[in-house]
Amino acid sequence: MNTYTDKFENSITNTLFTKLPHAQQEFIRQKAYQLKFSHQEIKQIIDIARDLGMWNEKSIIEIFPEHEQKKVVFARLKKAYDALRSKPNSYENFEPKNIPNEQKYTFKTEKKEGFGLGLCPVASEKTRCCNLLTLDAVESCGFDCSYCSIQSFYNQNTITFDSGFAEKLRNLNLDKNKTYHIGTGQASDSLMWGNKEGILDALFEFARTNPNVLLEFKTKSDNIKYFMENDVPKNILCTWSLNTPVIIKNEEHLAASLDKRIHVARRVADKGVKVGFHFHPIVEYENYLFDYAQVYAKLLEEFKAEEVALVSFGTLTFIKPVIKQLRAREFKSKITQMPFEDANAKNSYPHATKVEMFKHAYESFKPWHNKVFFYLCMEDHGMWKETFGYQYSTNNDFERDMLNAYCQKIGMEYLI
Ligand code: SF4
Repeated sequence: MNTYTDKFENSITNTLFTKLPHAQQEFIRQKAYQLKFSHQEIKQIIDIARDLGMWNEKSIIEIFPEHEQKKVVFARLKKAYDALRSKPNSYENFEPKNIPNEQKYTFKTEKKEGFGLGLCPVASEKTRCCNLLTLDAVESCGFDCSYCSIQSFYNQNTITFDSGFAEKLRNLNLDKNKTYHIGTGQASDSLMWGNKEGILDALFEFARTNPNVLLEFKTKSDNIKYFMENDVPKNILCTWSLNTPVIIKNEEHLAASLDKRIHVARRVADKGVKVGFHFHPIVEYENYLFDYAQVYAKLLEEFKAEEVALVSFGTLTFIKPVIKQLRAREFKSKITQMPFEDANAKNSYPHATKVEMFKHAYESFKPWHNKVFFYLCMEDHGMWKETFGYQYSTNNDFERDMLNAYCQKIGMEYLI
């Protein structure tokens, strides 16, 4: 075996080479032998080929430049790839693939070590953050949103309940003279499991016995059965993550439709529960501003400001493990087909794109300005000024304003 063959075989080890269609494998091998690509170049070409497949764009064979010099070929290939990555995505002829109509889970109930209460897993001093405490009632989610970072934490098909959850909540010793903002819905969806293993019984009891806790149920589900059948303590907030029908259909698999989410939010608000809406991630694609404007207008139509505690905006940020995990999946998604810019060691949209989407979002809610609490999630300090015209100097200032606004809306005392 000649040395380059050895080199090539070594380079494709631990890559997604064998997951590529056979024709593309043969093509890349032939081009590598012909142009003698380096180890790194071979790895990048394989990742490019995987991305083009996942994005449902032309294949590596179709965009591969013809030239006798390796350097020229590689530079032109990167350029063609970056151009495809940077053009606004179109979901027009896009069909998600390999997405099951219903997901099969294995449910596991076991006594878990420790207690899933802690600072929001993506909070950072580098971004302007609200110091949310997150409570993991369940591990792993039954929905399959392509952009979600949870998928890199848990085994997707095993849903784990902690048999000691209710007891740990009862034994939680919080300072009664302080207001806490605790959210469920980071490690799994807050409502999709209903009261399985008594999780909602435990959480409602916790809210009743800790009136100084603002307990936020964040969800993409339409499963509000428990909320309809039980008295809801007033210190409970129910918030929906919303997106455009295009993104829900193509990137938020198995989650409830937009209409269903808004419909159940309306029913919960009719019960006097304060609701809220998270637009996170706002995703750029062709005519996206028009589509989001429809959703914003629908909320202004369906809800009164006094019923809504919060509206938040955020966008895509990817850590490398999630990008790697997405590339390895056998499905179609355009979620990583975006021009990446560094955002605090994560990959996100260019600054100008973010300013465009956040300003558009905030301006679209003009009737609710100064009546509903608006915030940016996990964004640069300065992005607040560009979006809202003001910014906080610390995360604690942000948290204070947020909790004060929520407490006023709910009619509970804010304890600092
Ligand atoms: S702003 Fe977002 S990321 Fe930061 S702590 Fe709050 S919820 Fe978490």
